Amino acid sequence: MKYDIKDINLADLGKRRILWADKDMPVLSKIRERFEKEKPFAGLKMSCCLHVTAETANLVRTLKAGGADVVLCASNPLSTQDDVAASLVRDFGIPVFAIKGEDNETYYKHLESAIAHSPNITMDDGADLVSEILKNHPELYGQILGSMEETTTGVIRLKAMEKNNVLKFPVIAVNDVQTKYMFDNRYGTGQSTLDGIIRATDVLLAGKTFVIAGYGWCGRGLAERAKGMGANVIVTEVNPIKALEAAMDGFRVMEMIDAVKEADIICTVTGNIHVLRKEHFEVMKDGCYICNSGHFDVEIDIPALKELAEEINENVRNFVDEYVLADGRKIYLLAEGRLVNLSAAEGHPASVMDMSFATQALASEYVVKNKDKLENKVYVLPEEIEQDIAFTKLATMGIKIDQLTEEQKEYLSAWEIGT
Ligand code: SAH
Repeated sequence: MKYDIKDINLADLGKRRILWADKDMPVLSKIRERFEKEKPFAGLKMSCCLHVTAETANLVRTLKAGGADVVLCASNPLSTQDDVAASLVRDFGIPVFAIKGEDNETYYKHLESAIAHSPNITMDDGADLVSEILKNHPELYGQILGSMEETTTGVIRLKAMEKNNVLKFPVIAVNDVQTKYMFDNRYGTGQSTLDGIIRATDVLLAGKTFVIAGYGWCGRGLAERAKGMGANVIVTEVNPIKALEAAMDGFRVMEMIDAVKEADIICTVTGNIHVLRKEHFEVMKDGCYICNSGHFDVEIDIPALKELAEEINENVRNFVDEYVLADGRKIYLLAEGRLVNLSAAEGHPASVMDMSFATQALASEYVVKNKDKLENKVYVLPEEIEQDIAFTKLATMGIKIDQLTEEQKEYLSAWEIGT
């Protein structure tokens, strides 16, 4: 078996962490049990490009239980958990190509190894696998039944591909399914981003001014959680509806150029480029922590920060680089501007990834079942699948909900009854 990981001897710890996460992923476990029996992926090869975490391990185990011949590579150079990679190889027989801290060249080499597996189904977090295949591997177009996409940024890229008519197979935008974005993006990002910032810096959030750029699902979750920890939250936005929402949710909203002057901590979650740039670094408060929890490492203009710095002290604490500016002000960049939640912490907790990865598993099954119907477009999943996941999750949480009575069903479908 071919693989490329840091150290196979880390497998013991990885196995314990995978099984620990698994106990918080009951919906995915149920799907795994069913897949064991039904083998929906029998005879199919799958290549997954995801954050290599304990939660992802349980997803790829599920795909394998369903009969898939599956390999995994990293979707980000800094998010790999090397112990998990080792255990997947040794204990679960799943080839992994990922090493935490790999350089760009190795990252792309690992992508190529996943592509060399010659997949019938692919799974992405950020659309790197699909874009590599579309750019350089036309030989695979015909055999790929479909591809799954985990994250907002990936979906944006895929919709651009659809619009430019370059998609060669159907894609399921798993991110845009309610059982994913309403929970993972909001509660997952909310908690894991704070976790990453705290682990990296040991900062006390109470009383700090915490600036959040972007009030999408991730920004909303982060703002709510930071407020809960006692931070004074400021939101910056470009969309007037979202800005209004943030204001009415009780947050201060202002332009970034003003926000940076007050900020103790700034976190970008916009999915866009250079949200923090030269003009902001120039007026930032001394000692400010800056980090990113969205998209790639472009939300903070790091080259501009490097240019302004007189001195750079790397790793003054793990995952913290100190930039000293000409006037003596210090700015602390966390996790090199990459996703702070997956770099300095462990990503979202298992119980929320349970819903995201249950959605991934069922989306993969949906692609196989509907292979003759799907066109080369970006799809979401039918509502029944969302409902099914939500009902199962509720049941595992011991929560029961009401059902519509016959009278209520009739009332909802009638138009005759008015004032
Ligand atoms: N691919 C981009 C950005 C995506 S990160 C990059 O690497 O820069 C955000 C995604 O990470 C979310 O959609 C979420 O589902 C996923 N994620 C968060 N915690 C995770 C975990 N513990 N395991 C696997 N994936 C996780």
